[in-house]
Amino acid sequence: MTETSQWQNRYDAVMMPNYGTPDVVLSSGDGCIVTDVDGKTYLDLFAGIAVSSLGHNHPALVEAVNRQVATIAHTSNLFVNEPEVVLAEKLVDLLGAPARVLFTNSGTEANEAALKLAILHGKSAGRGYVVAAEDGFHGRTLGALSVTGKASIREPFGPFGIDVRFVPYGDADALKNAVTTECAAVIMEPTQGEAGVIPPPPGYLQVVRDVCDATGALFIADEVQSGIGRTGTWFAHQQHRVLPDVVTLAKGLGGGLPIGAVLGVGDAGTVLTKGMHGSTFGGNAVTTAAAIAVLDTIETDGLLQHVVMAGHHLASGVRALRHPLVAHTRGSGLWRGIVLVEDVAAEAAGALREAGFIVNPVRPSVLRVSPPLIVTLDQLDLFLDALRDALDAAYPPGERP
Ligand SMILES: *Cc1c(COP(=O)(O)O)cnc(C)c1O
Repeated sequence: MTETSQWQNRYDAVMMPNYGTPDVVLSSGDGCIVTDVDGKTYLDLFAGIAVSSLGHNHPALVEAVNRQVATIAHTSNLFVNEPEVVLAEKLVDLLGAPARVLFTNSGTEANEAALKLAILHGKSAGRGYVVAAEDGFHGRTLGALSVTGKASIREPFGPFGIDVRFVPYGDADALKNAVTTECAAVIMEPTQGEAGVIPPPPGYLQVVRDVCDATGALFIADEVQSGIGRTGTWFAHQQHRVLPDVVTLAKGLGGGLPIGAVLGVGDAGTVLTKGMHGSTFGGNAVTTAAAIAVLDTIETDGLLQHVVMAGHHLASGVRALRHPLVAHTRGSGLWRGIVLVEDVAAEAAGALREAGFIVNPVRPSVLRVSPPLIVTLDQLDLFLDALRDALDAAYPPGERP
């Protein structure tokens, strides 16, 4: 019996069946390489759902966390800690607009706080509903789930106390019809992650901005997955030259430590007044120190430029395979969906895993590639070779039309 199957048996016996039983039991990581309990190594092109932005065991992250935990780990929000203030200053600076910050522990909590902000903001003006996108993903707690556009994960838990109207992502006319002066907020991902890395049509986010300006609804950009360098800019919305009213962050921000954030731009930064929201762990000194290390490393190592360059290398490398199973790739930076012509993403990801490469079959016909932002071109080339073989295994030449 392998170590993997022993751990899987123990996992099955004690863990809720909520996640199924994962195929791999990871024990350690270094850079972009992770190692399982049987000693098999993998090139990590998933980064724990776009979280481990600096890879694994990055010296800057290790140093920051070690130093902070040995100094003061936790204060609660009844006291100020230094790293949370420094991190908030940095985030506002990177946003490039006057804003205020609220820290949370996850993406769904960031969206939860953003929705509370929007509801409070809209209440006195008689704004009673929220507009969200079909197939969008905003998290699993009840508020964030109510605006999540995937019915199969939302409907088992409804009805919700929030009036939510869904529109097709990218449809400007549907959005204009849905948003009125009675709408409190529009929540959108600048690129839909869980839906399969789907960027908006050109100009769509500007339409969201314009519709919100015309009606007074707040534009909440859910950058939980797209933010913190993933697309080659600090925030994905910066590539569309729009400024949302509220930006939510999490995943890549802490480089593997659990932290989320809500940025309220201008007046949206002062809606949640004293006592309106709270989190025991929000702004925790260790997670905020980790996030400072992530931001500083992205900056000092020039990782934004690297993400743009490596992302082009990856996308053009997939194109150059000219594999009959690949329809096209989409996304930007180090966040790409490889769209297949058949529903064999799970088989392809399985073959890649066997070969020592971790990617995510985010949809039946889409592979999501979201490596650490430090992935090298050589590592991407190894992946491209393995991808060709895995696609051949998933779609044998003999079975092609
Ligand atoms: C992952 C994700 C969330 C939820 O984040 P959690 O930390 O899992 O709660 C919300 N929005 C988007 C766009 C995400 O990708």
